[in-house]
Amino acid sequence: TRHMPLSFCIAKGFGLNLRVLTIAMYATMMRRTMGYLYNFSRLRPFLPLGFNVQVHSFLGFCLVFHAFGHMCGHIAYYECHVKRGFAKAFTQESLLRTGSWARRGKGDAITGYLLLTFLLLMASTALYRGKTSQHFRAFFLVHYLYNIWPVFIFLHVPDLWPYFLSITGAIVLERAFNFFYMTNFSTLGSSRACSHGVTFLSVPRGRDTSPGCYYRIKIPAISHTEWHPFSLAGSVSSHHLTFFVASVGDWTQALYQIVSDPILRDRTMVQVQGPFAAPAKWAARVTTEPILLVASGIGITPFFSLMATKVADEQSFQSDKEVYQELFQEEVSQRRRSVSTVKAIKNMSLEAPVVVNSDLQELRVVWMIRDCGELLFYLDYVHQLVKSQNSFSRHVVYVDVYLTGLGKGSDPVQMVAQTLFLLTVSDLMSAYMNIHFGRPDLSDIFEQRKPKQMYYCGGVVMKSHLGKLCQEHGAQFHPEDCGSSPTFISFIEKKFSEWRARMVKRVRKNAKLRRQTARQQSTNYAAGAHEEEEGVMG
Ligand SMILES: Cc1cc2nc3c(=O)[nH]c(=O)nc-3n(C[C@H](O)[C@H](O)[C@H](O)COP(=O)(O)OP(=O)(O)OC[C@H]3O[C@@H](n4cnc5c(N)ncnc54)[C@H](O)[C@@H]3O)c2cc1C
Repeated sequence: TRHMPLSFCIAKGFGLNLRVLTIAMYATMMRRTMGYLYNFSRLRPFLPLGFNVQVHSFLGFCLVFHAFGHMCGHIAYYECHVKRGFAKAFTQESLLRTGSWARRGKGDAITGYLLLTFLLLMASTALYRGKTSQHFRAFFLVHYLYNIWPVFIFLHVPDLWPYFLSITGAIVLERAFNFFYMTNFSTLGSSRACSHGVTFLSVPRGRDTSPGCYYRIKIPAISHTEWHPFSLAGSVSSHHLTFFVASVGDWTQALYQIVSDPILRDRTMVQVQGPFAAPAKWAARVTTEPILLVASGIGITPFFSLMATKVADEQSFQSDKEVYQELFQEEVSQRRRSVSTVKAIKNMSLEAPVVVNSDLQELRVVWMIRDCGELLFYLDYVHQLVKSQNSFSRHVVYVDVYLTGLGKGSDPVQMVAQTLFLLTVSDLMSAYMNIHFGRPDLSDIFEQRKPKQMYYCGGVVMKSHLGKLCQEHGAQFHPEDCGSSPTFISFIEKKFSEWRARMVKRVRKNAKLRRQTARQQSTNYAAGAHEEEEGVMG
């Protein structure tokens, strides 16, 4: 391309970037592979585990931008340097020309326009995915186009087949592994409907699991296409996988209806796929490093299984200790490194490091809640979890709850509701769970706790604040998204709404001006006609 026109070089430049971006896009969708690679600490800084959806949506919009650049470059090149200009650009080497394009493998215009249409469909539905359940469903279904995307890439530039076959192969392998090896089939028989619209979803556990991870759940009776992610809530040693599902949209409400009916729930099939690793998984290590978990709102769910597992692990250690004490009147001071039994057995060797019990650090959880009413059920659950430490000689989990959304309303009904709520939550305070009113002083918590690792799940504003704090205090930061709209999408959505509002305002202003001018003209015309009439009469 050294002697090629600038427009052609621009098209090729964008085209090359498109290849890299497409591969990066597909890589962000391979959550299982990413979870596996996250085990290697050297690779961690390069893996967007926990915020892959953010990266994915950013790359998606980069793809749209580059696809436009690529198309404009080609059109400009044809317009300026090729006979029949624009028309040729459209039919260039196209499918209309009986497939000779495939042999030469240079690129085809019609498939390019189709690829751009797919991209625009995916990007536009992604912009509105947070609006309603229907919008999310449209976004979800349209995103299935990613399955035929590589086929069209191949049709577009056949020469690139090894390139795209490898990425398609990787994703197909991962999906097949997930479906055939990691999916359990069960019924909703042991699930129950709880207060505050929360569903307690419980299925027998198949294979080994890990704390902090999440599962994808499909219920064909509700939808044949939708898989919904939910974090594991119980201990990994439990015989059941348990999840708490808040009724926030069509799918979760339909689930609540089903489990409320004892006959229906026994008959309803559920598919549970997982576990998929989330950063919180690594917080479960038996370690002497201080760890801090921060959650806002519903972001507490990935930490449930972590807390439950820590408590269950301590329970089994305490009972071992008692037996040893009874039999030999000696103290057990060492313990295994992993809370997962299978991992502990795999790592068993004489040289395997053990941890001295007295050096162990408790798990410190900071949970910020704005909308208290909705999360009352979850508060109750955390209270039950930490309360079971009563019989232990030392506690392993400590939770600080911050109620940040109180005292705003001046509506008397709301104030009465808040007072009742406060009376209820004050009952939940214990030696392992403290309830504070107001915002936490996170800098102070960092100073006191000096965490080496910090895990966060919740909104984006707090995420950037915590990221900075971690940098200042030299702690490793592991954020996790919990279903909120990606920042980049929110940013584009905001800019788009602002632009639309400006346009509407401008159109209205112009219309008003036009109306005023027309009125002025008609008044002038009427006045002129009147004067003329008077002149004629005179
Ligand atoms: C890793 C992860 C773990 C989660 N864990 C829990 C949990 O333990 N308990 C809980 O109550 N909720 C959890 N959620 C959120 C839960 O997945 C959604 O609330 C649920 O899918 C809503 O579906 P809906 O159709 O009823 O609501 P909708 O009205 O369709 O969606 C409400 C919002 O939920 C999100 N959402 C909907 N469908 C999906 C989907 N298929 N994949 C990803 N996000 C979706 C979207 O942000 C959407 O705007 C988790 C989300 C993620 C990403």
